[in-house]
Amino acid sequence: MVSATRPASVTDELLERLVARVPGRSGATWKLTEVYTGEVLVELPQSTPEDIEDAFAKARAAQALWAQWPVAKRLEVFDRAHTLLVDNAHRTADLIQVESGKNRRMAIEETCDPPMVMSYYLKRAKKLLAPKKHGGPVPVVSGSTEVRVPKGVVGIIAPWNFPFATGLSDAIPALMAGNAVVVKPDNKTALSPLFGISLLEEAGLPKGLFQVVCGEGPDIGPTLIDNADYVMFTGSTATGRVIGERAGRNLIGCCLELGGKNPMIVLDDVDVAEWVEGTTFGVFGNTGQICMHIERIYLPESRYDELKSAFVERAANLSIGAAYDFGPEIGSLVSPEHRDRVASHVEDAVAKGATVLTGGRARPDIGPAFFEPTVLEGVTKDMLAGHTETFGPVVALYPYRTVDEAIHLANDTDYGLNASVWSGDLARAEAVAERIESGNVNINDALATAYASKGSPSGGVKKSGVGARHGDQGLLKYTDAKNVAVLKKQVMGPRPGQGYDAYVKQMLSSLKLMRRLRVR
Ligand code: NAD
Repeated sequence: MVSATRPASVTDELLERLVARVPGRSGATWKLTEVYTGEVLVELPQSTPEDIEDAFAKARAAQALWAQWPVAKRLEVFDRAHTLLVDNAHRTADLIQVESGKNRRMAIEETCDPPMVMSYYLKRAKKLLAPKKHGGPVPVVSGSTEVRVPKGVVGIIAPWNFPFATGLSDAIPALMAGNAVVVKPDNKTALSPLFGISLLEEAGLPKGLFQVVCGEGPDIGPTLIDNADYVMFTGSTATGRVIGERAGRNLIGCCLELGGKNPMIVLDDVDVAEWVEGTTFGVFGNTGQICMHIERIYLPESRYDELKSAFVERAANLSIGAAYDFGPEIGSLVSPEHRDRVASHVEDAVAKGATVLTGGRARPDIGPAFFEPTVLEGVTKDMLAGHTETFGPVVALYPYRTVDEAIHLANDTDYGLNASVWSGDLARAEAVAERIESGNVNINDALATAYASKGSPSGGVKKSGVGARHGDQGLLKYTDAKNVAVLKKQVMGPRPGQGYDAYVKQMLSSLKLMRRLRVR
């Protein structure tokens, strides 16, 4: 087995310092391993329910003070943090790589997400959080003000596939809005979020405001949700249901960013070279462990053979490797367990009649969790790979005869997270995009353009989620709207001596007049 040399920045001293902030009074730990070698890096404390309650109490105390800070002063922290995060991109990428096994390109690109989110909300937060005046029921003498109040303490539950981005990026607007945060990263990938939080504190984030608790989801999830004022969850659809149910019982809001079975429709006027390059990243980037990555590709029958052979050739020649430099185009899956899950989808497809056009095998010669970029043909809906999320470097190609048929097939899924349309004619592509049932649609790209457009809300429809991140709602969801209404004079009733009939008549004609004058 090839074993990569751990990056010099990932010292034992750093690892111990990072995990020291995770509460774990029982002394129980979880062995956090380096994915490329399977070697234990550090013993991660596992938080008990009492630890979690303490973390919330500390966060709540810090939040009461933080919410008093003027918004501009809070934002200064993130202005400084932006610089620190960018300056530390390579050290962060080292941690992301050791804990997730992804390749260097993806690790570095992941480090860019929190600064991009910061940058967007640094421009927008002040306006979003400012009180807004609205007209009252009676012009001049009445009015109301919409005041944005932080929810309190936001619980964030994050997955392993983008641990730094999902651990930090969703916390940024929550903190800017005046909340505290308690985050639960996945045990496998707790290091990079812990490092990111230490950088936020270096930038001036008050101590105590951003807590981290660790443990297996089912063990610590209930206590976390029961103590939170809002839950931001990113993960599988199955877990999302559990989180949503509990949040619902507690009558708190939640945002659920879940799985997908994302389709791509290629129109018959596509430029092959551009399409192959964009699709290779869209399918195999992060070794297929991107919630928005493409798992189904619909190709026009008239160009099926040409497009298939160009794509399969590129997939077959991707370089796979365990390295902390920019060499390999494809890194590892996150764990041997996940590799087995991905392999089971391929085995099931083959057993039921699908064909492997390239790949299809685990690569223990490279590392414990590597799996080849795999292209399948002849996948049907009775196969696992035909209807449920594989979340690995596996894609199925399907020919279609008419665009209507392609749209029907793309929509024939319970999921609705991301989709992609390729065409040389943007108007044609947009017409198709309009008919796809999905929270995100990328035209002439697979996924990154929609996700990196921080001004637009990004979420899933159907079983892919509830709510969205990014855009105005990505910050406002962490606030309650308080409606403060003022009536300067008692005019909302009959005047002294005025009968109720006369008052009602006057009120109804005022309603018509105000509508005509567009007063309300
Ligand atoms: P997962 O649902 O198994 O776990 C996600 C997180 O939830 C982890 O921290 C886990 O420990 C925790 N968890 C598990 N069970 C829990 C419970 N009962 N209570 C509380 N917390 C619990 O998902 P995963 O396998 O870690 O991540 C992969 C999934 O995440 C894929 O389905 C992928 O599509 C999805 N994902 C979605 C997005 C998005 O934005 N829509 C982004 C990234 C990943």
